[in-house]
Amino acid sequence: MCLVNRSARVAGVADRLSAAATATSAGLRRRLEDVVGREHVRTDEGALVTFSTDATPLERGCPDAVVFPATAEEVAEVLRIANERGVPVVPRGSGTNLSAGTVPHRGGIVLVLTRMSKVKEVSAAELLAVCEPGVRTIELEQAAAARGLLFPPDPGSHTTATLGGNVAECSGGLRALKYGVTREYVLGVEAVLPTGEIIRSGGRLVKDVAGYDLRRLLCGSEGTLAVMTELTLRLVPAPEASGIGMAYFGDLADAARAVSRVLASGVLPVTLEFLDQVCIGAVEDYAHIGLDTSAGALLIFGQDGNPAVIERDLQRMAQACATEGATEVRIAESPEAASAVLEARRAALPSLSRLEPLTILEDATVPRSRIAEMVEYIQEVAQRHELKIGTFGHAGDGNLHPTAVLDPADEGAVHRARAAFDEIFARAVELDGTITGEHGVGLVKLRYLERQLGADHMALLRRIKAAFDPNGILNPGKLGL
Ligand SMILES: Cc1cc2nc3c(=O)[nH]c(=O)nc-3n(C[C@H](O)[C@H](O)[C@H](O)COP(=O)(O)OP(=O)(O)OC[C@H]3O[C@@H](n4cnc5c(N)ncnc54)[C@H](O)[C@@H]3O)c2cc1C
Repeated sequence: MCLVNRSARVAGVADRLSAAATATSAGLRRRLEDVVGREHVRTDEGALVTFSTDATPLERGCPDAVVFPATAEEVAEVLRIANERGVPVVPRGSGTNLSAGTVPHRGGIVLVLTRMSKVKEVSAAELLAVCEPGVRTIELEQAAAARGLLFPPDPGSHTTATLGGNVAECSGGLRALKYGVTREYVLGVEAVLPTGEIIRSGGRLVKDVAGYDLRRLLCGSEGTLAVMTELTLRLVPAPEASGIGMAYFGDLADAARAVSRVLASGVLPVTLEFLDQVCIGAVEDYAHIGLDTSAGALLIFGQDGNPAVIERDLQRMAQACATEGATEVRIAESPEAASAVLEARRAALPSLSRLEPLTILEDATVPRSRIAEMVEYIQEVAQRHELKIGTFGHAGDGNLHPTAVLDPADEGAVHRARAAFDEIFARAVELDGTITGEHGVGLVKLRYLERQLGADHMALLRRIKAAFDPNGILNPGKLGL
């Protein structure tokens, strides 16, 4: 479970951190300084507290040192030193993950890749970019746009998150339905093994089947197999234009049926997002954009490409919504109106977070045909456990974000929320879905993972982990490895 607590405090952590700092052997620190330079090894309390957590605030670890390498060779040397001594190493980009994937719960080194932040190349002729892992997603988007190209993966955190984190989590976003998730854009990876060797898998080629596809294995590996130090990423020509529409429904079941009808109508939308009634109310309270708070659900649909195709597809999607009983359908007539509609979706999480101090954001995912069933189940669970759960998400992907808001001081409510999400994840798996569509397992979903994959599958993952990382130093414990 991912716990986001606005009032989370670090009290107590500082005491443990100072003990940890003392425990950092001077010898280890000196060796790390020899590799990356003195100013790039931090063991002061400020750094240790800052890197004790990520965007999963109630989860805390206690690092011994924070190291900022600048090259693949420096990463390799740091890993060799850590491997010799059996010191855990937690690779980290911007720390925006929601599964405690960068929480150093076993201490050791937090290896922050943000100094490796060069966009080395953008090639319009080869439709690719070569980047260091600490480049922020938006920086690549902008560099690509300047050449008339698009890097489609667009997690909501794109202004902050890094490409290394995007690949390690195999992030999705609002455009995933049409363009796919991050893995579809990884052509090649340079990575450092926990034992210090630098390997390359894939490269500039669209076709390359020499050996196992390790670059795919590294997608979603959550920093447990290797540290990625260079990424060759596929780009596509930027679409000429884009358009957005919205449809209100009396209830979620109608909206879910409209999703199926849209997808069956021969249109592959770039965006197909939904908000339930709790989210509509929260967004309107927060953003005042004129949403109809009496509606049971809001579906946002969008297309990009040639203007004539956009016009045709928006009309088809509007028709599909009307056929399934939409109470109102609108197509945005200006870019400003379109961005106001998208704002409603982007504001869902911040709006819900304002309702109570503790926000539990999840990403249970089901096949598209089971969305209605899943959403109705979530509502029934919320009612039964007396919880406020708003659900929004990427309806076109079946990727739902049931989000509970509560007071962390109310232990009963926290307990009921855990029970509710246990049931929600169990149901998602029963419906052939998954416990996480895009946020990863990290530490927070460990207890659900084996239930979904089974013991044999987990045993195979552990053998793969051992082949990469015989001493188990790289992000140990994450993903149950
Ligand atoms: C407001 C908000 C909105 C979000 N929206 C989305 C969304 O729409 N879709 C989505 O999928 N996610 C979303 N996320 C989750 C998160 O932003 C993504 O997972 C993001 O890709 C993480 O990038 P990061 O640089 O912050 O990685 P970090 O959090 O620093 O790390 C994530 C994982 O990657 C590993 N890692 C990082 N860099 C490397 C590297 N170079 N080599 C090997 N392993 C590495 C870490 O060990 C960790 O396991 C959102 C988060 C927030 C806070």
